[in-house]
Amino acid sequence: MLKKILITGGAGFLGSNLSERLLNEGNKVICMDNFYTGFKRNIEHLVDNPNFDLVEHDVIEPFDFDVDQIYNLACPASPPHYQQDPLFTTRTAIFGVINCLELARKNGARVFQASTSEVYGDPLIHPQPESYWGSVNPIGIRSCYDEGKRVGETLMFDYHRQHGVDIRVVRIFNTYGPRMNPDDGRVVSNFIVQALRGEDITIYGDGEQTRSFCYVDDLLDGFVRLMNQDEHIGPINIGNPGEFTMLELAEKVLKKVKSESKLTFHPLPGDDPKQRKPDIILAKRYLNWEPKVALDQGLDKAIAYFSTMIK
Ligand code: NAD
Ligand code: UDP
Repeated sequence: MLKKILITGGAGFLGSNLSERLLNEGNKVICMDNFYTGFKRNIEHLVDNPNFDLVEHDVIEPFDFDVDQIYNLACPASPPHYQQDPLFTTRTAIFGVINCLELARKNGARVFQASTSEVYGDPLIHPQPESYWGSVNPIGIRSCYDEGKRVGETLMFDYHRQHGVDIRVVRIFNTYGPRMNPDDGRVVSNFIVQALRGEDITIYGDGEQTRSFCYVDDLLDGFVRLMNQDEHIGPINIGNPGEFTMLELAEKVLKKVKSESKLTFHPLPGDDPKQRKPDIILAKRYLNWEPKVALDQGLDKAIAYFSTMIK
């Protein structure tokens, strides 16, 4: 049945891909964004669709729509962007969630929170299961985002316990793909864009730190499965357990782009996690979900996208 769905942060990387997917599945989508890190170009192919509405609004300020589901994605996600105005990031992470929860409470809507593997901080347990409480610095340069997202989860579960709000919480591990901003500052976009432009590849630290990269289509499949089942409210990890060092990622990108770019080494930013890999047992059990796109395939698609973007 057709649903009325609000997506906050709908003009961003994940939000624009999700808007497209939910429209294609026959739903009505309200895309709300303040364009802090999102772009009109990400959704311009959707604006003529009669089932699509674009609303320019800051999630920090209350809003009111008649909707069945809310996906709360509004929040700067790349370290350089969320650290640029950390107080704005914390306000977005907290008041954005409260405003979504208040709307869900008023409408009896189901609300989805885009949480993050950052709630595990620099993890001491590897891979990370949802039962791990994390190792997070409360006063560092990443804290506005990490602690903001942790409070976001607290708010979700307290509204659920105290007011019976119907919640779903996902912990997203590093995701990449088309519609990432080429100047976003995250590692996959940085390396591909640098390789395509023949610029130096910027490795932070010794490049031995690891991440696990999920292709966007796989991630969204997990979102929709979590949102449309009644057995499990989360938090649930969605990510690809394939684990790579940043040096391995750089070598892959250089080979695929056939680039002459050189590796250069730069200081590691503060509190940069040394390792990260999702335990996805719960996603398999409750959502029958696992990723289908390996890093090699996904990088080919991302490289094809960035090639059109930067020419
Ligand atoms: P993104 O920066 O491309 O998208 C975020 C969107 O939110 C942008 O369109 C931005 O303009 C909008 N936004 C930011 N603050 C806002 C505000 N106060 N009011 C209204 N809109 C606002 O990032 P993304 O990768 O698409 O991330 C989407 C969500 O997923 C974020 O909440 C992020 O924390 C979460 N997440 C993403 C990843 C990932 O790897 N992509 C990993 C973990 C969590
Ligand atoms: N990184 C890097 N070069 C870059 C950008 C990032 O070596 O140009 C490293 C960064 O230090 C981190 C990893 O890549 O160890 C992932 O960084 P990203 O910002 O993509 O995500 P996050 O740190 O939030 O997982």
